[in-house]
Formats: sequence, C-alpha cells, structure tokens
Amino acid sequence: MAMMTWMRRSSRYFLAVVVLTFIASLAYFGATQDRSSPTVVATINGEDVSAAAYDRAYRAAVEQYRQILRDRFSEELLRSLRVQDQVLERLVSERLMAQRAQAEGITNFSLFCNHVTIIPAIRAILDSPDLRLDGFVGPGHVSTVIGLRPYRFIAGDYRKPVVVSGFEPLDVLQGVYMILRQLRDGRSEVENQYSRVVREEGNPLALRAIAETMELRTTFEWRGLGFISQSALKLRDEFADWDAEVRYEIPGVRVADPKACQCGEVLKGVIKPWECKVFGTACTPDHPIGTCMVSSEGACAAYFNYGRHAGRRRAETAA
Ligand code: SF4
Repeated sequence: MAMMTWMRRSSRYFLAVVVLTFIASLAYFGATQDRSSPTVVATINGEDVSAAAYDRAYRAAVEQYRQILRDRFSEELLRSLRVQDQVLERLVSERLMAQRAQAEGITNFSLFCNHVTIIPAIRAILDSPDLRLDGFVGPGHVSTVIGLRPYRFIAGDYRKPVVVSGFEPLDVLQGVYMILRQLRDGRSEVENQYSRVVREEGNPLALRAIAETMELRTTFEWRGLGFISQSALKLRDEFADWDAEVRYEIPGVRVADPKACQCGEVLKGVIKPWECKVFGTACTPDHPIGTCMVSSEGACAAYFNYGRHAGRRRAETAA
C-alpha cells in the first residue's frame, strides 16, 4: 500500500515518464501512414492500425470535445483543432509505446490515475440552490494548462466574475481587487491577472498529452461535494497493461467526511471556515479533518494560517 500511496501522489510524474517515452520511442521506431488500404490507417513496424479502431477513437474524441465545449462545439472548431490528426497521432504513439515496452520487457511500472477536472465541480457548486459566492478566483496553476476558455460559462451562463490569479500575495490581492471592480461595474467576465504565465489557450502540448493518454471517468466522488459525473480522468484502455486499476485489486475505499466537517458549505460560501465548529480545534493543518484544511491553498487552511478569525475562534473555544 505504501507503494500505491506513493504512486498516487506521483501520478503526474508517471504521466511525464509516459509522455517522454512517446517522444523517445519516435526516435527509435518508425511509423508510416498507409493510404493504399481503406481498412488500415497506419502501419507501425509492421503492425496495422485498423480503420475501425481509428473510427472508434475519433468518435470518442469528438464526443469528449462535445462534452467539454458544449454550446461552443462545432465542426469548424474540430477542424481547427486538427482532431483527426490528433487521434491518428495518439493511436500511433500508443502502439509505439506498447511495442517499445514489449521489446524492452518493461512490465514493472504502473500508473494510478487520480486526476480531476475542475469545471464539472465548479458547475455543481454553481448549481447549488444555497450558493452564496459572488465571484471566483481561478486557480493559476490549473489555468496554466487549461487556459481561460473553460471558465467562460461561469461569466456567460451564471453571470459571475472570474479572475485567474497567481499565488503570490500581491497576485491574490490584485485578483480580489479585479473581482470587486467587476462587481462594482456590474460586469461578469473572465479576466487574467496571471498573464505572465497563463495564456488564453493554455498549454496545447500538455492538453494534447492528456487527451492522448486519458479519458473522462463516468463519475467521481469529491469529498464535500459527492459524486459528480465526468469530473475525473482515467487511463485510456490502450494503456491497460500499465493501468494499476486493471493490474491490481485496488479496494474501492470511500473516505466519508466526518459529520462535523462542513467543507461543502465552505466551498459554496454558505459559511466562513471559522464558523465550522471544529475549526482550529479538532481540525488544524497538522491534523486536518476535512479536505479544505489539507492543502495550504484550501480555504480552511488559508483562514487558519492567515485569517484574523483564526485567533477569534481559538479565543472563543478557550473561553
Ligand atoms: S475546519 Fe475542518 S472540519 Fe471544518 S469545514 Fe474546514 S476542513 Fe471541514
């Protein structure tokens, strides 16, 4: 289990290894596009990629784009994203990796994919009837990869300002200031405070690597929010030989939030972190009870470390 825990924490680095393996493989092996046979779209070191496999992969990719882009989806956008080329390159890359791993007898690595997609979670929060949030500070690190476009529905459909911000104190302050300015002016737009790092289109190389190696899970359980459909990623079937979920019996452990934890309400703005009964007493960054206290950027951890209310809560409890 220690190994699995380490792998879970390190899954992003495993992905990097896989992607690097793709690139390295291209240096060793060759692939040709077969235009002579309508049933074969490419031949890699004598191994065919069938037109049927290509069609399945293409339809799945189009469906994935349809779900992500929703009302912005169009055939023209598909063409501009070169989805046909992307799918073919992915199929070739997968074969190259499988051949390379087989040739070198590599069987001693597995990936346990636990990546989540934040947009469905934000949509679930926005759809909550008790929502009490006026705007969103968009996460700078995530946005470095996904860009600004995925947030447009928040400003367009829900009329809430979004400002993607960095993590330095001045970044956060300026991000909050930009949200307040939008609220004052009656605007709801997606603005980029972190423009020194985040680009409108995100990181196309990283997005492509994700699309090539992963696909959406049907559903995923978020602590504090429950099950949200298509809100996480898993490895594509083509990587089953290295997928820890396929290779090993991974117990479906569910970690329910303790009853005392009000992380869901904190995330929706219904209560402030210090209003939780166990804030700063039973729940601290050293002994977190809920997810909002686990990582330093979690709302409860930030309030505990920097908020003036942390002291007040402690004083109330001590009295
Ligand atoms: S203080 Fe701890 S228990 Fe309370 S909402 Fe925050 S994370 Fe949950």
